[in-house]
Amino acid sequence: MDIKLSKQNPSTLSESTVIPVFSAEKPGKALRSQLSSNSWKAIEKLDSKLNGQLVKGLKKKGFKPSKGKHCTVLVTNKSKACSITLIAQGKEDRDLAKLKDQLRELGASLAKSSEHHNCLHLAHIKHSDLQDYIKAVAEGVLIGSYRFKLYKKNKSKDSKRLIEIALKSEPAAKLKAVLKEVYAINSGQNLARDLVNTPAGDMGPKEIVDAAKKIARGTSSQMSIKVFGKSALKKMKAGSLLSVTAGSSTEPYLIHMDYKPKGKAKETIALVGKGITFDSGGLSIKSSRGMMTMKCDMGGAGAVLGIMEAIAKLPASAKPKYRIHALVPTCENMVSANSTHPGDVVKAMDGKTIEVLNTDAEGRLILADALCYSKKLKADKTIDFATLTGACVAALGDRYAGLFSNESSLAEALHRHGEKTGDNLWPLPLAEEYDAYLNSDIADVKNIGNPGPGAVTAALFLRRFVPKDTDWAHIDLAGPAFLDGRRGIYQKGATGFPVRALVSFLQES
Ligand SMILES: [Zn+2]
Repeated sequence: MDIKLSKQNPSTLSESTVIPVFSAEKPGKALRSQLSSNSWKAIEKLDSKLNGQLVKGLKKKGFKPSKGKHCTVLVTNKSKACSITLIAQGKEDRDLAKLKDQLRELGASLAKSSEHHNCLHLAHIKHSDLQDYIKAVAEGVLIGSYRFKLYKKNKSKDSKRLIEIALKSEPAAKLKAVLKEVYAINSGQNLARDLVNTPAGDMGPKEIVDAAKKIARGTSSQMSIKVFGKSALKKMKAGSLLSVTAGSSTEPYLIHMDYKPKGKAKETIALVGKGITFDSGGLSIKSSRGMMTMKCDMGGAGAVLGIMEAIAKLPASAKPKYRIHALVPTCENMVSANSTHPGDVVKAMDGKTIEVLNTDAEGRLILADALCYSKKLKADKTIDFATLTGACVAALGDRYAGLFSNESSLAEALHRHGEKTGDNLWPLPLAEEYDAYLNSDIADVKNIGNPGPGAVTAALFLRRFVPKDTDWAHIDLAGPAFLDGRRGIYQKGATGFPVRALVSFLQES
């Protein structure tokens, strides 16, 4: 799918043209007085080239531009048949975050169209809004056109299809740069989706390592990579991580990628992603239904690698100014005679002992060691990502991830970038009252709390391993990382959440 910016040329209409229109502040009866003056002018201009066919058609169909309504008129232009679709967006000065969601959906619907050449008419959009419009529509096109076809015999190619965005004048360099950025960020988001959608049999810890190496070796990645296997992890005394993988025959890894910006780094940020490539639950085994989608338990790792892929692909001027460390602990949680027993006590890298009462609460165990490892990086900020708890899905569903933080300004910034990009992060409390639920009778901490606030106690467990003096945020993305069915711009399966929000956060300088 190609997206092209060009100067509008009403005399050469494509097979299908789409025009977002806005309603007037105080709508009258006639069609022209129901539309904002910019929208009406755009229609009039097009109509003059079509000998009045467009307005005549709209009137005949009784088009009323109230939000969500659309109307398609068939016209002939130089003896070629074309369709023109008006999509009513509501009033022009609405909340931009909401409007952007709508524009992404518009982009996704363009991507679904079977025409080879679709044109989106944006010549009438206010200049100050144009950048946001192009970004949101292009995101929608690229996210909406994603299909996971690895195992399909018929891998139909749709790369020849073109979506043209028509502007008032020749596209400025700044707008072209916006489009390039969208492509780069989308390559990260769609990589995250590919990694998560690939079944556990073909996407184990080794393949996660391969994906990370491929990103780091990209020509302009500015990244280096270190990978620690089982014997190195033993030497590092990563007993918490190793306890999770005890029942698996595949080797566990801790991946450490290091991105250095050109010039002096603004701050150091560590990103940590849970990479359980398959979660059977261990001896606290899941039901067969509960296990069906457990290839998705590396959604946090997928997100972190997606963010790094986006950074590697971004043009130099748009790359983050932070030093960024990406840590991905990755392994399988399986059942065998060697599996960790419920009730076993294991020791994390920092020497803390953990009573493992439920082997299905394993994500926090691998994250604990990765957080201990992060201490030597002296990060100013640490953000972890994990498909961690069913409790978070129960609380927030699949449209919001839970956001926990020990620093309000970090939480505020992440929340803001979530809103801006449509990757919604919703604050939940690190409630001190529940911290004592994690006290163990025989060890320093236990890996589950009392029944109830499971998302909160999981976050409080992680907090016990976060290095001192680090601003930390924990994002529980068990809900939005993987969808049971189609939703909005997304297909069923992996979403690549929250790559867009985090890249936007890291780009802010
Ligand atoms: Zn689990």
